[in-house]
Amino acid sequence: MKLVRAAACACALAMAASGEGGQGIPGTRASVAGRAGWDAIRDGRNEEAATAFAAAIEAEPRDPSLYLGAGLAAQLLGNIAKARELLEQALKLAPNFTTASLLLGDLLYRNSDLEGAIDVYETAAKYAPDDKTLAGRLTRLRQEASPANGYFQSRSAHFTVLFEGPADEAMASRAVDLLESAYWRVGTALYTFPDQVITVVLYTEQQFRDTTRSPSWAAASYDGRIRIPMRGALEQAPGELDRVLTHELTHEMIRAIAPRGVPTWLNEGLAVMFEPEGTQWADQVLRTSNARIPLGDLAGSFDKLSSNQARTAYAESADAAHRLFDQVGGASIVALLQDIARGIPLSEAFEHRMLTPYDSFAASFSPAR
Ligand SMILES: [Zn+2]
Repeated sequence: MKLVRAAACACALAMAASGEGGQGIPGTRASVAGRAGWDAIRDGRNEEAATAFAAAIEAEPRDPSLYLGAGLAAQLLGNIAKARELLEQALKLAPNFTTASLLLGDLLYRNSDLEGAIDVYETAAKYAPDDKTLAGRLTRLRQEASPANGYFQSRSAHFTVLFEGPADEAMASRAVDLLESAYWRVGTALYTFPDQVITVVLYTEQQFRDTTRSPSWAAASYDGRIRIPMRGALEQAPGELDRVLTHELTHEMIRAIAPRGVPTWLNEGLAVMFEPEGTQWADQVLRTSNARIPLGDLAGSFDKLSSNQARTAYAESADAAHRLFDQVGGASIVALLQDIARGIPLSEAFEHRMLTPYDSFAASFSPAR
């Protein structure tokens, strides 16, 4: 859910960049290809965008805005290393290109490189000391949980878990163990093994609300880091920490394949499905209540749902994901996510990969049958 907002923000940035000019002399091959690239980004045709920007760069290798477009397309396709390389190239050509700095800093932050992001913003601020967006981001990132701000950390091959003090150390090391085992379990099912280190912050509940402004029913949230509120229940109920961590990690895995455009029911459904006992929980909710929400209404954010509706929404989503997983297997689910990342319309990709029309699948979730 948070992810969609983030990607939309990156896109708005890029739109601003394309308006800034730098597309070359009108009529040139680079200019035409560059414009086609921005049009494709706007319409979510990310693979076409990447192709167009690559052609534009070949024709005009000195235009930084083309590297920005190519970098954004790579990011939207889930190719983080390439996106980073292209954005760095844009900044090499134009160190004062604030839009590229904003995008690169955001990319680094979202990939657990807080210091790298701060570095990028600090350098950019030298060129644009009055830029309010830049200043705001710097302020926020400098306040983020980090060892420099007094947080403790516990690390493993794929995770850094940040926590407040020695009292939470046992919980943090349990979190690291649970995350590593979930990484292999979910990663194997989704054929996805993100190679960047994922940052997880354990908060007290009060801090969590303040930092994320989450609706009260949300157990955890994501904005580039996995943030887990450590409520009494989370500390005491056995299995609850495993459940929340696995759920959030699944979102991270999905994001690594398709950074945006994934319908919420599929995203949340997979996350619940991989939770220990997630499928059983969903079955029980659906067995004990007749309430149903049309699947089409669960493609967008769940933020506005009441607690009861949210329960139904998560359970239905898990049921939908589980049915698909049973019918076509993990590899086809991944292929569907990859299609979404490329910008193929959902109904088309769904029918191709799930071997059933989206509308008839959605109709099987109609209320009050
Ligand atoms: Zn979720």
